[in-house]
Amino acid sequence: MPNLSAVSAKRLNRRRNTFAGRHLYVQMKDEDFMRLAIEQARKGDQTPGAGEVGCVIVRDGEVLAAGHNEAELRFDPSAHAEIVTLRRLGEKLRTTDFRGCTVYCTLQPCTMCTVACIWGRISRIVYGATRDDVHSMYFDARHINTADLVRDAFRDDIEIRGGVLSGECAQFYYRPHENPPLAEQRNR
Ligand SMILES: [Zn+2]
Repeated sequence: MPNLSAVSAKRLNRRRNTFAGRHLYVQMKDEDFMRLAIEQARKGDQTPGAGEVGCVIVRDGEVLAAGHNEAELRFDPSAHAEIVTLRRLGEKLRTTDFRGCTVYCTLQPCTMCTVACIWGRISRIVYGATRDDVHSMYFDARHINTADLVRDAFRDDIEIRGGVLSGECAQFYYRPHENPPLAEQRNR
């Protein structure tokens, strides 16, 4: 398990407010969990061969799995952050039924990762930087909108929220106006 994120989640979960002598736990928000995904993106950015996309998967306020892109590290084009993290989640829960779980990802999930979430019965997808915030190299040309993709799969029970801490997340990626080296553009 990625201990850093687990520890951070515990620390955040322990934050309390005192009101009329009673302790009230502060609910962790999407932004808090996105910060943990950003930690993962940073870790991926700093790990030779890994990628700067981070992901955590949360259920009932608890971070169950975390990961970052490992595609080049593992010579595995499917090892996107979400897939890496979904695999860890499955190993931990010993099931492929992830109902009740929320996937937090620093970048709008690609087609492959969105469909993997559908197969895993993920309940929510929350992402940071949107397709409009980053260079087109991170996506295929056809599947523009994550919500449309989910609707195409005839699913109406996955909630999607994009743009959470999008500015912080987008710092990890080439921006739309930048000109990344062709060798890095995996969608070409
Ligand atoms: Zn992906």
